[in-house]
Amino acid sequence: MIQVAINGYGTIGKRVADAVREQPDMEVRGVAKTRPNFEAETAVDKGFPLYAAVEERADQFADAGLEIAGPVEDLVDAADVVVDATPSGIGAENKSMYEAYDTPALYQGGEDADLVDTSFNARSNFEDATGADHVRVVSCNTTGLSRVIAPLREAYGVEKVRATLVRRGGDPGQTSRGPINDILPNPVTIPSHHGPDVETIFDDLDIDTLGMKVPATLMHMHSLNVTLEEEVDASEVRDLFAEESRLFLIPERMDIDGSGKLKEYALDAGRPRGDVWENCIWEESISTVGDDLYLFQGIHQESDVVPENVDAIRAVLGEADAEESIETTNETMGIGL
Ligand code: NAD
Repeated sequence: MIQVAINGYGTIGKRVADAVREQPDMEVRGVAKTRPNFEAETAVDKGFPLYAAVEERADQFADAGLEIAGPVEDLVDAADVVVDATPSGIGAENKSMYEAYDTPALYQGGEDADLVDTSFNARSNFEDATGADHVRVVSCNTTGLSRVIAPLREAYGVEKVRATLVRRGGDPGQTSRGPINDILPNPVTIPSHHGPDVETIFDDLDIDTLGMKVPATLMHMHSLNVTLEEEVDASEVRDLFAEESRLFLIPERMDIDGSGKLKEYALDAGRPRGDVWENCIWEESISTVGDDLYLFQGIHQESDVVPENVDAIRAVLGEADAEESIETTNETMGIGL
């Protein structure tokens, strides 16, 4: 059994812990938190050993009635791999600790690409992570774009990608984020940093991206234009995407007109936390004009990277190839709407 440590038990970390627990070949060795809160209490209720990420604050857990298994260093030492799901920039600070205990580490999209040996998306470059010590699971937006670009490159060749990312202002729990009554060009400089991030997965890709932020918490929305290397019928692209396990084509008959109904559907379907691990592509939006392909897709920022973290664990440890790992992860998590 692969012993997995999760350092940083917030939006991403708690989801990764639950997904790891579902895997037949993995065990959650423990989770580390900086301070007691509702998430620390749930971790304990779920039976995850809780470690203190900051030694000076360890007493706060006892004061809150929460038992601590030890300092985070003990957890990192005992684990085969650590998933760092701390806020942007903290992963970089933790790198020397993972190196000191010789424990391979996965970081999240908020860290810089040059922190790691390779950036990772299971569908696109699984093998690049084999045997690596430091791997970055790319951001929610980069994951969403990579999952669409990989099959298009393989099937038709991609000349150029142009994407406008309409981004949620904050996650539902992020009460300090915004805007609450505005529409921001964000970042206002063009092209945005998202394109170069996708190029950490496909280094020879030509991609320009633009970002905006809107008063929404549920999902991001991508408006995508891909110039292909040949003219393709839209129905062919639909068939291509239908074969992809982490792309959900929203059928017209479902009458899902936006991210509100998508999230409602996920809740109705019994998804934990209403998570939507797949890219949600409006089937009717898939259109071609000459060699240009257009589509709209919804990306659930809180959860699409979760199966990618699970696959990255197997990739780093050389425990499975891409196909085997993706299949196991999909099956155990119930991916495929
Ligand atoms: P979050 O704030 O919800 O969770 C981070 C957790 O780490 C919190 O519980 C925080 O208390 C804890 N923490 C802070 N400092 C720590 C330390 N030194 N050691 C251990 N734990 C510490 O953040 P998040 O949204 O889960 O983001 C984590 C990473 O995932 C970031 O790199 C982010 O860019 C990336 N990411 C976030 C999203 C998203 O939409 N939320 C999507 C994809 C990737």
